[in-house]
Amino acid sequence: MKKVVIIGGGFAGLSALKVLARSGLGLKVVLIDRKQTFGFLPLLPDCIGRGINPDNLVCKIINICKKFQADFINKEVEAVNLEQKKIYLEAENLSYDYLVISSGSETNFYGNNEIRLCLNALDDAVDAEKIVSALKENNFDNYLVVGGGYTGVEVATNLRIYLDKAKKTGEIIIVERAASILGNLPEWMKIYVLDNLKRLKINAYTGNSLSNVDKYRVRLSDGREFNNCLVVWAAGVKTGSFIQNLAIEKNPQGRIKVDDYLRLNETCFVCGDAANFSFKNNFLRMAVQFSITEGEVAAENIVRSIKGGSLSKFKPVDLGYIVPMANNRSCGEVFGFRVKGVFATLLHFIMCIYRSCSIKNKIGILKNLSKGG
Ligand SMILES: Cc1cc2nc3c(=O)[nH]c(=O)nc-3n(C[C@H](O)[C@H](O)[C@H](O)COP(=O)(O)OP(=O)(O)OC[C@H]3O[C@@H](n4cnc5c(N)ncnc54)[C@H](O)[C@@H]3O)c2cc1C
Repeated sequence: MKKVVIIGGGFAGLSALKVLARSGLGLKVVLIDRKQTFGFLPLLPDCIGRGINPDNLVCKIINICKKFQADFINKEVEAVNLEQKKIYLEAENLSYDYLVISSGSETNFYGNNEIRLCLNALDDAVDAEKIVSALKENNFDNYLVVGGGYTGVEVATNLRIYLDKAKKTGEIIIVERAASILGNLPEWMKIYVLDNLKRLKINAYTGNSLSNVDKYRVRLSDGREFNNCLVVWAAGVKTGSFIQNLAIEKNPQGRIKVDDYLRLNETCFVCGDAANFSFKNNFLRMAVQFSITEGEVAAENIVRSIKGGSLSKFKPVDLGYIVPMANNRSCGEVFGFRVKGVFATLLHFIMCIYRSCSIKNKIGILKNLSKGG
């Protein structure tokens, strides 16, 4: 019986699990995750402004594994030896015939552990809960969001909606190192987002970064200082340390370069945020739609490898993307068309509810949205 180990029970890992379980090959599938729950990350910012209950964004991985007759190991992978086909966990190791690396990405603090202790990240439902509690328990004067990408913009707009609802005041600032927010997104989208941020009285300080931070005080690289601050760090992600330690080709975020079949080698497939897949002279962005389809194709290719058939190439279909903003003035491009405002927001939530992991969660999210959204 062939043994397939999946590292990471996120979007990519769970979609691979489903395909492997249905292969009819009677595989032994083991899923390893350091967390007990799958987290629906795209709605984390909405826990702040729209009152989404973080409990509605999680599902127990063990229950999903039971459903698909897979073993679940709730531990952190510390290292992988690709030559010996071994995975090292705390105080144990296990071997595999095929490996799926789907361990996603995590907030990048760029090695600055001091900063890490003073800031809030938004990697999972626990982080979202922490931010919501901090907001409820304190009256901050300033709210700094570091990083002007999708997540930073979404968090900042949610903070404004939260403050308005709670009848609290405070300055909300996005701090972005680059010359503009939203990186290489189209110009029309940047103009739309900047206009919306202005309406929400959110300042974007571009060409700026955090130079010093203690628990509630922050100094920026241009010398400006902010006291009594809540800081949310959304300034980039990287892959986990076991990937960083592998001597293989990776991009600066540590995403693993894969071939057309999502392979790192004959027995190791990589999918989701952990994979760096070359697409139209660029690399696929990190997104739920690609994580799910990559997980499926990686698993199909493992099945084909075992059966001795030829592998299928991963051919991404890009449905588009949306920059969600909590006052319902979202924007994006879907099937190549520009979408804006309430319609774009609606599309985002339809995608999120459709992809969330259980009927209970879907109903919970809908209830939260009808009350708070
Ligand atoms: C705040 C936020 C908002 C987002 N909004 C959107 C959006 O609107 N639309 C969109 O398409 N995408 C969005 N994304 C990105 C999207 O969530 C990711 O692309 C997607 O989750 C990647 O799926 P994955 O399966 O690769 O990784 P993940 O979903 O991150 O799952 C990885 C799993 O691996 C586990 N793991 C990691 N390291 C180890 C280890 N060493 N040992 C054991 N287990 C490990 C983790 O615990 C986790 O369960 C957002 C992300 C964030 C953080």
